[in-house]
Amino acid sequence: MEDSYHRLSEAYGFPESRYLPRILEKCLTEREASLLLSLPGTAEEVAGKLCMDVSSVQSILGELFQKGFIFYDLVEGKRRYTLITNLRDAITVNNRVEQFGEEFFDLWARMYDEEVSRDFDVEGYEARVIPVHEAIEPGAEILPYEKVSGLLEKAETIAVMRCPCRITNRRCDNPVETCITLNGAAKYVLERGVGRELTREEALSLFNQCEDAGLIHQVGNGSLGVSWICNCCACCCVYLRAQIISGKKYATVKTRYRAVVDSGLCNECGLCIDRCNFGTIKMVNSKPVIDEEKCFGCGLCASQCPVNAISLIQTRGPEHIPTREAEPLFSSI
Ligand code: SF4
Ligand code: SF4
Ligand code: SF4
Repeated sequence: MEDSYHRLSEAYGFPESRYLPRILEKCLTEREASLLLSLPGTAEEVAGKLCMDVSSVQSILGELFQKGFIFYDLVEGKRRYTLITNLRDAITVNNRVEQFGEEFFDLWARMYDEEVSRDFDVEGYEARVIPVHEAIEPGAEILPYEKVSGLLEKAETIAVMRCPCRITNRRCDNPVETCITLNGAAKYVLERGVGRELTREEALSLFNQCEDAGLIHQVGNGSLGVSWICNCCACCCVYLRAQIISGKKYATVKTRYRAVVDSGLCNECGLCIDRCNFGTIKMVNSKPVIDEEKCFGCGLCASQCPVNAISLIQTRGPEHIPTREAEPLFSSI
C-alpha cells in the first residue's frame, strides 16, 4: 500500500511526481500526512474517521494550521478544516521553511522547473503584470484593478509576507518582504503570524521601493477578488521564470500598455536596457529600440529614465482583462 506522502501528492494533483512525496516527508510527520488525507471535516469528524481522541486531533490540526497546510471556516460555530490546495502557498508561506534543509530547496526547485511549470503550457489562471502607473502617458485609460493604488484603495486589510518564490529559490538578493495580501488573505496571513499588517501608505511606499529595486508588479489575472499583489524578479518568480526563462506561453499576461521611446529626448545612457527583465530593449545606433511584440508594458524602463524619454501607451482594450475571480491565495478544498 502506498504511504500517506504518495497519496497526499495525488490529492495535490501530482500523482506521478518524482519530488513531491519526498518534499512532503520533509515538512510533515506521517501522522500529519494521514490526517490531511482525512479532510475536510471538524476535529470531531476527523477523530471519528481516524479512531483518535478529539484533543489529539485538535492539537495536530493546530500544528497543521500553523504550518500552513489547512484552512478553516466556521460552520455552526465549529471550525471545519480543509486542505489548502495551492502547493506553493501550503508549503512555503511558512516561518519555518529554512528548517526544512538544503535537500528540500533542491527538490522544490526541480519540482517547479520540471513538473509544476507544465501547467503554464495551457491557458488558465495565470498571473498578469500590472504597470508602474506613473509611466502611463497622460490621458490614457487606466482601470482601478490594473493599478496598485486602485487595488489598495478598496482593501479593508493589507498585510505583507515574505516572498515564497525568493525564499525557496534564493537566486538573487532582492528584498524578500514584498508579497502584499489583501482582505481575507491578509487576515489569514496575520492570524498565522506569517506576515505583518500595513497601512495603505506603508504599502504604497513598499511598492515604490520595489519599483526602485526593479521588481515587477503582478496580480492574479482577473478583474474580481484580487487577493495578492506581488513584486517579482525573473530569476525566482514561478510565473516570470516560467515565461521568460522556460519560454512558457501562459504563465503571465501582458498589461494593456507598451513602452515607446522619444529618441529626441534620450541621452543614450542605456539604463533602460538593464531595467527590462524581458530582454525587450536593444541599442541601435546608440538609441534604445523596443521590440513591440516582446514588451509586457511593466513600465520599469520608464520609471528610472533620467530624462523621461519613455512612456507607456495603451494598446489593448478593457476586454484584455477577463471578468472573473483572480486566482486566489490559499485556495482550499
Ligand atoms: S509571485 Fe513574485 S513576489 Fe509573489 S511569491 Fe513569487 S516572486 Fe515572490
Ligand atoms: S534610460 Fe532613457 S535616456 Fe537612458 S537610454 Fe533609455 S530612454 Fe535613453
Ligand atoms: S520595455 Fe521592458 S521594461 Fe519597458 S515596459 Fe516593456 S517589458 Fe517593461
